[in-house]
Amino acid sequence: MAVPKRRTSKSKKLKRRTHQKLTLPNLSECPNCGEMRKNHHVCPSCGYYNGKEVVSE
Ligand SMILES: [Zn+2]
Repeated sequence: MAVPKRRTSKSKKLKRRTHQKLTLPNLSECPNCGEMRKNHHVCPSCGYYNGKEVVSE
C-alpha cells in the first residue's frame, strides 16, 4: 500500500481549506408556501418538492 512520503503540514492543510466555507447556502422561496428553503431540498415547512408533497405532516 502506498504511503505519503511527507505528511501535509498544518499550514498547507489550512491554506487549502480557506476556500471551503466561502459560499453562502443557496436559498430560494418555496413556490408552494413562500418560505425560504435550500435549493434542491424538500421544503422544511410544507414538505413539497417539485410541485409534489414528498414529506407528509
Ligand atoms: Zn414550502
